[in-house]
Amino acid sequence: MTLLTLDAVILRSQPYSETSRIVTFMSRENGLVKGIARGARGKRSRFGATLEPLQRVRVTLSVREGRDLQTVTEADLLQPYGQIREDLFSSTWAQAVLELTSRVVWQEHASEDVFELLLAILHAYEEGIGDPQLLFHIYQIHLAASLGYAIHLETCSGCGGPVTDPVRFSLTEGAVRCSDCYPPEGAYITLSGETAALLLRLSRPDGIAAAAALKPDNEVRRSCSRLLRRHLEYHTETDLALRSLRLAERIGSWDPAEDLKGSKRRIV
Ligand SMILES: [Zn+2]
Repeated sequence: MTLLTLDAVILRSQPYSETSRIVTFMSRENGLVKGIARGARGKRSRFGATLEPLQRVRVTLSVREGRDLQTVTEADLLQPYGQIREDLFSSTWAQAVLELTSRVVWQEHASEDVFELLLAILHAYEEGIGDPQLLFHIYQIHLAASLGYAIHLETCSGCGGPVTDPVRFSLTEGAVRCSDCYPPEGAYITLSGETAALLLRLSRPDGIAAAAALKPDNEVRRSCSRLLRRHLEYHTETDLALRSLRLAERIGSWDPAEDLKGSKRRIV
C-alpha cells in the first residue's frame, strides 16, 4: 500500500452507504482515479465540503495495486469554482464537461494535456469568457485530439484540395472530403459550410477567446453538437447521451443583454 498525492478535479461524488462517498477524480498525474472516502458524509465529516463535484483539490489516496477503488485519506481545496456554481448556464455546461470526461477518459489515457485542457475550460466558465455551449464544443474537439481522434476540417482528406458547401465529414476518417472525393463507403455526415467554419474556428488554439465573439444560430449549434457527439461516440465506442448535456441543451445559452432587451431566451 502506498500513498499517492494528486492534483485533481472532482468529476463525480456519489453517496455510498450511510457514511461514505465514492469520488471520481480527473488527475494531472494518473488520469481518472476513483476513491472511497470513509466518513465523508454528515456534518462532522473531516473532509467538510472538499469532495463535492466541480472543485479542484489536492487529494491523497492510499493505493493498492490492482484495485479499481482506492481510499481517500486527505483532500485540500485548491479551487472551488464559486462563480460557475452561481450561474445556472455555466454550471450546467460545466457539468456536461465533467460527465463527458468521466465517460471517455480512462486511466491509460492519463495525460497532462487533457488535465490542462479541463482546467482551461473550467477557467473560461469561471471567468465568464465565451458562450457556454461553444466552450463545451471546444472541449470536445480538443479532448478528441488528445485521445488520438483529432478532427480534420481544413482541406479534403482525399486530394488535399478545398472543400465546398455542403461539406461531407467522414466519421471513419474524422475528416472532410470534397465533392470529387466523396467518401466511397462508411459513415459520413453532411454539414453546412457555416457549421464546418465554426468547428474549424473553435478547433484553433485561440478558440476560447474566439468563442466570446461568435454568435452561431440554433441550426448551426445543433449541427455542431450532433457532429461532435457522433464523432466521439464512433471512436470511443461509448454512448454519449449525457444527462447533463440534455439539460444544458434544453436551457440553452442565455445572453443577459438579450434578456434586458426583453427578448426570449434562446432555447437550443
Ligand atoms: Zn478531394
